[in-house]
Amino acid sequence: TIPLTALVDWLHRFHDAAVENRDWLTELDSAIGDADHGANMARGMTAVVEKIDQTTPATAGDLFKTVGMTLVSTVGGASGPLYGTFFLRLGTALGPVTEVEPAALAAGLRAGLDGIVARGKAEAGDKTLFDAVSPALAALDAALAEGADPAAATARAAVAAAAGRDATIPLVAHKGRASYLGERSAGHMDPGSASATLLLETLAAAVA
Ligand code: ADP
Ligand code: MG
Ligand code: MG
Repeated sequence: TIPLTALVDWLHRFHDAAVENRDWLTELDSAIGDADHGANMARGMTAVVEKIDQTTPATAGDLFKTVGMTLVSTVGGASGPLYGTFFLRLGTALGPVTEVEPAALAAGLRAGLDGIVARGKAEAGDKTLFDAVSPALAALDAALAEGADPAAATARAAVAAAAGRDATIPLVAHKGRASYLGERSAGHMDPGSASATLLLETLAAAVA
């Protein structure tokens, strides 16, 4: 099982990655968006770690609901509500537990992705963070079904996320600000798929 401490560690690692990659995420968003994705993610995750360090949520459900509410209230634009919904649904799915079975984590992440889709209506190939998260969760499910341990399974999910992120480069965007560019959005990596890959990479690091 994965203890609550590892889940808290995940959020700290994602914060660190958002801050370290702020300029890169903003650069990606300046090509096909409004140049704020790095600032949005860094600001949101800074508020998240402050909040969870202050309130020390006692269960996985409380932890991720706090994360989701903090992101929704501190990040404007598309990514705040989308990442916020992801974490709110993850928290609801996990519930009041202090350790999480790998299969329950995979199901919770799936519920989070379903929340993103309910909110943003993204489909595969729309050039959004869906294109990183969806293949990552498919890889996670496949690895767990084959009996991989949580460390190996989340590592495979992170690799799949990065592949999905890289595959957004040639795509024409059909959702979000990048879609306003039409064909001119092709040839650039989607910023949200880049931050979402950091989310999966830091999960793997926290679980390892
Ligand atoms: P904004 O576009 O409002 O400035 P951000 O720059 O923080 O917000 O986030 C942009 C990212 O949000 C995009 O790169 C894309 O991955 C993601 N995104 C935008 N719209 C959607 C949507 N409808 N569904 C899923 N993801 C989306
Ligand atoms: Mg933006
Ligand atoms: Mg914006």
